[in-house]
Amino acid sequence: MLMTQKSLIEAMRAIIYVEAESIDLARHHPDPEMREVREDFVELLTPIAKAWCTDMGVEVASLTIQIFGGMGYIEESGAPQHFRDSRIAPIYEGTNGIQAMDLVGRKLPMKGGAVVTEFLSIIATLDPVLLRGGAQLGPIRSNLADALTKLADTTYWIMKQGMEDPRDALAGASPYLRMFSLVTAGWLMAKQAIAAKQALDAGEGDRAFLEAKLATAVFFCENILPAATSLAPAVTAGYATTMAVPVDQL
Ligand SMILES: Cc1cc2nc3c(=O)[nH]c(=O)nc-3n(C[C@H](O)[C@H](O)[C@H](O)COP(=O)(O)OP(=O)(O)OC[C@H]3O[C@@H](n4cnc5c(N)ncnc54)[C@H](O)[C@@H]3O)c2cc1C
Repeated sequence: MLMTQKSLIEAMRAIIYVEAESIDLARHHPDPEMREVREDFVELLTPIAKAWCTDMGVEVASLTIQIFGGMGYIEESGAPQHFRDSRIAPIYEGTNGIQAMDLVGRKLPMKGGAVVTEFLSIIATLDPVLLRGGAQLGPIRSNLADALTKLADTTYWIMKQGMEDPRDALAGASPYLRMFSLVTAGWLMAKQAIAAKQALDAGEGDRAFLEAKLATAVFFCENILPAATSLAPAVTAGYATTMAVPVDQL
């Protein structure tokens, strides 16, 4: 549970840092082309940063209660207040369901799909770097490659199906946002692992911190990232079953 919390927090921070960096560069980079690229990044990643990080904030706060058991549940521990406070974030500033529909309905079609395609190809460029990292980065590489392949297939399904019947694409929007977020998080954890390994190999920096960073990234890619591939059937199931039960039977 502690490792789940640690890895989720590090992944969330990484997504938010990348988003914040992109906002700065979109506003202030001297090259207008670079400003446009970064603005596209901001647009694409906003629903990820908002929705996934707030959902995971609830999960991390809930885990705190679980870690402390019965003591965690009662008010005196302070943990329930964190859980209640975090629970609002998926609701306001655009509910997470609306963020998911924004990702599918507005962000994927940006520039005819070129923005998301470019984003997925940036993630793919990490593969040879991970390969050079040897056995230590092996589990990161294999899990990221599997999840990225599944995400790319699912993305093309959503874009194609969205044009044929948008109800199919929108019915899968929430699991798709989660899948997209997990892969984005896996990519950024992989980048952190590469940086940590390079520093360790060079004998630079705080060894204990860097070893923990590397182990946390491996943990994330082995234990949390694989959920991305299992979400694919939910994304591509279509809307028929979702709408099959009449409202008065719900
Ligand atoms: C503590 C707090 C502070 C707030 N502060 C502010 C503030 O300062 N300023 C401000 O303007 N507002 C504020 N709000 C309001 C907040 O922005 C809204 O609660 C939020 O936008 C959600 O709207 P809603 O509550 O009407 O939920 P609804 O829109 O009714 O949504 C309920 C559920 O239905 C889902 N849903 C809605 N439409 C669809 C759809 N078309 N398809 C599929 N699912 C859908 C949603 O995702 C959600 O899960 C605050 C709310 C709270 C609780």
